[in-house]
Amino acid sequence: MCGIVGYVGKRECTDILIKALHRLEYRGYDSAGIAVFEGDKLKTVKAKGKINDGLVEKLKFEKKLTATAGISHTRWATHGEPSDINSHPIGNGRVSIVHNGIIENYRELKAFLISKGYGFESETDTETVAKLLDYYYDGDPIEAIAKAMQDIRGAYALGIIFREHKNKIFAVRCESPLIVGKGNGENFIASDITAVLEYTKDYYLLEHNEIAILDENGITFESFHGEEIQKELKTADWDISAAERGGYNHFMLKEIHEQPDAIRNTISPRVKDGLPDFSECGLTTEKLRSYKNIYIVGCGSAMHAGLVGKTLIEKLARIPVVVDIASEFRYRDPLVTADDLVVIISQSGETADTLAALKLARSIGADTFAIVNVVGSSIAREASMVMYTNAGPEISVCSTKAYAVQVAFMYLFAFQIAYANGKLSEEKCKELTAELLEIPNYVHQCIDNESAYQLVASKIMNASSLLYIGRGLDYALSMEGSLKLKEISYIHSEAYASGELKHGTISLITEDTPVIALATQSELFEKTLSNVKEVKSRGAKVVMICCEDTNIDDASVDYKIGLPRISELLMPLVTVVPLQMVAYYTAVLRGCDVDMPRNLAKSVTVE
Ligand code: GLU
Repeated sequence: MCGIVGYVGKRECTDILIKALHRLEYRGYDSAGIAVFEGDKLKTVKAKGKINDGLVEKLKFEKKLTATAGISHTRWATHGEPSDINSHPIGNGRVSIVHNGIIENYRELKAFLISKGYGFESETDTETVAKLLDYYYDGDPIEAIAKAMQDIRGAYALGIIFREHKNKIFAVRCESPLIVGKGNGENFIASDITAVLEYTKDYYLLEHNEIAILDENGITFESFHGEEIQKELKTADWDISAAERGGYNHFMLKEIHEQPDAIRNTISPRVKDGLPDFSECGLTTEKLRSYKNIYIVGCGSAMHAGLVGKTLIEKLARIPVVVDIASEFRYRDPLVTADDLVVIISQSGETADTLAALKLARSIGADTFAIVNVVGSSIAREASMVMYTNAGPEISVCSTKAYAVQVAFMYLFAFQIAYANGKLSEEKCKELTAELLEIPNYVHQCIDNESAYQLVASKIMNASSLLYIGRGLDYALSMEGSLKLKEISYIHSEAYASGELKHGTISLITEDTPVIALATQSELFEKTLSNVKEVKSRGAKVVMICCEDTNIDDASVDYKIGLPRISELLMPLVTVVPLQMVAYYTAVLRGCDVDMPRNLAKSVTVE
């Protein structure tokens, strides 16, 4: 994970690097550091902890830096504990690097370098790359980088500076993301464009086996053989305000509030004459009719969105759907064939396991359809078909709007595939699509119900464990609700299919184990209510999330969160709001760092 930023230009760069680094802090916050060209030397300052707690504090004790070029890093540790010494940049005074990824053969490289007389200070895999570059460096940076990269196995995005090449930054990548930003008299490297949006919207996507060379006058790209490469300049359509908190206390809250627009922006452009229209990606009616099975692959919330998709597709289109966790899909020799469609869901488009699952599906010959938020990301580029969720940048580590738009997209996709296969009439498909287009208004309405969420949060905030239960679509949503809560409030929780409770898990119920029951589906309502009675009789406090006009007596539940009554099939799109909000307020009440929960990072670009 981790975030990388590099700057070269005319301005003093420390503040620019730190500001840009803050925008990438969601990618990791175990430590942070910078290395800049100061006089004839490379000056490095780095410290354990979040940017402000460690690096910024340490810089206060340094002589004011005057450099106009440098690299910086905010780390999510993979190899070696979070510590000053394991922080990036890592180097030896002659070469310094920042790294995002994992060097898989670092042990072998380390042994080789030790045999050549190198010593190692840190426990990181990254240090082997810094030393390898130094070993190969003989005055020509391109040659050193090309040689070192031939020896390295694994995932990396690297920002590299050489003391002897003052005010020049080199960058190279394989699997991990990196963009090269083109400003006016100043240029950047960054793990994603949001870091530098304040300075430029123009950027290049660096590809594998390309070396970017930046100085204040321009950017060039070379192959490992030193041939110049021409690349297309892209322009981001995200605005800087999207990468800022606005008036909200946390990005998470801001992003929950952005959900109505995010859903609208994702769905509306894909509706033509009242029907879903997927022609932009080449998913034709013929193709949609040809698939024998559908696999939906993702991690975390994206996988949970897939679970909603499975229920919808199987219900409406009657095509078998398998939902897989990407890291499992890869290694279980899945039964995918060339007659199947593999749907890949990822917010960042860089999730390492999901990307690997996509490559596996492609190698088998299956069509791959990526549903991704970040334009031009690796998954978007590797898939045979791609459509973007237009959620805008999601900064909070805990996903909200990205999940909501993935779920909304699953609806449109299910309608489309059901219609293409003759399982949904044109009239019914239009009717459902029209309802989907109305959803943002209802999501808005749910977000406004803040006091109900605050009340429930105050009731569960001291629990050490709780359960989410539901059936069918509600079970899929329970899993997302449980993930949100544990991710940011650190309260242990589990999601269970309501009917499954009495096969073991009900033994966990005590009066100190609150249960959040989701009951939005009328045909399953009475069944879930029976399960609620079972846990209540054993002392549990129960919060029920159901339609506002659902008739339940006070004795059955302790708190009720009412949702607008919309078509039952579409209920997950509104049910998610209380789940997010309750998790949010619980975390706030417990004093947790909502946007940067411990041990986590947003895009998981390592396995
Ligand atoms: N593997 C490197 C480290 O542990 C980089 C980690 C990352 O990309 O998050 O320092």
